[in-house]
Amino acid sequence: MLGLFLVVVSVGAWLMSDDSRAVVILDGPPVPGARVTSPFGMRVHPITRQTHRHNGTDFGGVPEGTAVLAVVGGVVRRIDGGRWVGEAEAQAVLGERADQYRHRDDPGRYWLGSGKGQANGHAVHLVGTDGRWWAYLHLQGPPPVQVGQRIEVGDVLGQVGQTGRSTGPHLHLSVFESGQAVDPWPLIRSHTTRDPGPVLG
Ligand SMILES: [Zn+2]
Repeated sequence: MLGLFLVVVSVGAWLMSDDSRAVVILDGPPVPGARVTSPFGMRVHPITRQTHRHNGTDFGGVPEGTAVLAVVGGVVRRIDGGRWVGEAEAQAVLGERADQYRHRDDPGRYWLGSGKGQANGHAVHLVGTDGRWWAYLHLQGPPPVQVGQRIEVGDVLGQVGQTGRSTGPHLHLSVFESGQAVDPWPLIRSHTTRDPGPVLG
């Protein structure tokens, strides 16, 4: 699906009371115009073919490069990175795992993460004003934020990409409470007036 794609964004926000703290949550999904392409919960992983719990919500159906917005404000705690490499380098470093990190549209390229988060691609992790850990994965390029930076709700954290272990352009959003992954979707859905449409997959 190519063509002119215009997204008119008006970043609204709702005030929500959460654990006796007032937390502002984005009015809408973290990717404007996106829909949920894979929900939180048990699934057969599209790449590994193994059944496991999908520990986040995938937002897709938008072109690579679409802005990714912070659902809540907070402080950036970690950034994952890496680069695209050729087959020889990928095989040398990743061995038989290399196949999982092949670019879906350009099979000659493989994702090679630096440090932790090989599967995450370019990613931003932040501790939100709600006390939860929020992780935005598979971004297109290095995010325009730094560790320690304060983030406001609706700030741009990067663009939708397909770095890491990804079947195509989408945002994977994970939320952790006390180290346990929780479903981000009810948190977002209950505070949005812009329904991003049906849940797929
Ligand atoms: Zn995902």
